[in-house]
Amino acid sequence: MRFFNTYSRQIEEFEPRDPAERKIGIYTCGPTVYSRAHIGNFRAYIFEDLLQRHFELRGFKMHRVMNITDVDDKTIRGAREANIPLSEFTAPFKQAFFEDCETLRIKRADDFPAATDQRYIERMIEMIGTLISRDLAYQADDKSVYFRINKFPDYGKLAHFDLTQLQSTGRVKHDEYDKEHIGDFALWKAWDEEDGGVAWESPWGRGRPGWHIECSAMSTALLGDQIDIHCGGVDNIFPHHEAEIAQSEGVTGKKFVRYWLHCAHLLVDGQKMSKSLGNFYTLPNLLEKGYTGREIRYALMRVHYRAPLNFTWEGMEEARQALARVDEWLARLRETANGKIDKKNMKPGQQFEEALDDDLNISAALGFLFESIRETNRAIDQNEMDAATANAWLDWWKRVNSVLVVEEAPAELPAEITKLAEARLQARLAKDFQKSDELRNELGTRGWEVRDTKDGQKITRRAGG
Ligand SMILES: [Zn+2]
Repeated sequence: MRFFNTYSRQIEEFEPRDPAERKIGIYTCGPTVYSRAHIGNFRAYIFEDLLQRHFELRGFKMHRVMNITDVDDKTIRGAREANIPLSEFTAPFKQAFFEDCETLRIKRADDFPAATDQRYIERMIEMIGTLISRDLAYQADDKSVYFRINKFPDYGKLAHFDLTQLQSTGRVKHDEYDKEHIGDFALWKAWDEEDGGVAWESPWGRGRPGWHIECSAMSTALLGDQIDIHCGGVDNIFPHHEAEIAQSEGVTGKKFVRYWLHCAHLLVDGQKMSKSLGNFYTLPNLLEKGYTGREIRYALMRVHYRAPLNFTWEGMEEARQALARVDEWLARLRETANGKIDKKNMKPGQQFEEALDDDLNISAALGFLFESIRETNRAIDQNEMDAATANAWLDWWKRVNSVLVVEEAPAELPAEITKLAEARLQARLAKDFQKSDELRNELGTRGWEVRDTKDGQKITRRAGG
């Protein structure tokens, strides 16, 4: 397997830290729970889900950690504006995040550490103390503690960023005059009035952690000093992940992450998603339009993670039709269980998995899936597929679906469809074929297809319906 490592800007052969164990530690930056996550956030989480599931298909054991940022500037502002305690403000957004993950069939991480958990606050304080003792951090006149980037020569390597440029941009904010260098970032923010009741005691006075140190503390606490894979969106690269490297390596003295994988942006109709443009969508916004979780999952998954994904309503329709094709194909394979002739000897190969081995090339993997669907359908049409071959493809699909997770759950048919189907069955039993055909057409206009098999009539949603 090989992946594009943001750190080296190269495709690298993947080797876990511990090859004998086939265990992989993976850390993925999670949501900041100050609002409902949008579909751009979920694009990244679905990419990470795909990555994890593909590793599992390849026989690796994953230890996945995803943090919840429940204290930072935005959550504190939200709680202040709502005039409620911080934990009360963030709780419903945490809940909504888990619900959305469930709808999108995103596998739960093994750990969801929250930044406000006392044991992680203690670890952050401990790490900051170590950084100060090594001269990598200092307390400024404003009582906040900052990381001293000039003392960490590798700072900027992940983002391929030149520190001298950082100085020359002149983006000096008024409240940052206390820092030694414009790029120095806060490890511990001294309490101010805006923080209200949000504060912890520390050797540097009351205050709260900076966002970056949260991830360094939680990742190393749960996964150890060295992590195999660290993921996030491209907008996390700088300064967040750059800062994570500086803090973690500053404390442990070891290489923090072996592979950095970053997911590109999501655009809506070719534009950056924003509330002011009216193209800002959360998951419930799409569900309200009648799309299902698996359709949305597919739409957000189908473009390679390093390419920008342009979200459109036509794209949602394409996702719906693609999945209807899969459903129809599976139904046909299941009905081919009595086929006896096998002229084509079409056995599934390894191309799907191999495409994903290649930097998680989902577009190629899906291309192969639909090519297989076309060819096997043709064989079934011509009565050239036997039961063993059909079953081999169904077994193959199980592997494919363990990664894609888009198979339709055996849903109950809507009541009116069940009624029509029952009426048609009665008509057939009474040999009233005219009525039976009328009912078939009626079901068809409602988007449902009826097929008569040796196990009785089967009803499926029609492709493109
Ligand atoms: Zn993070």
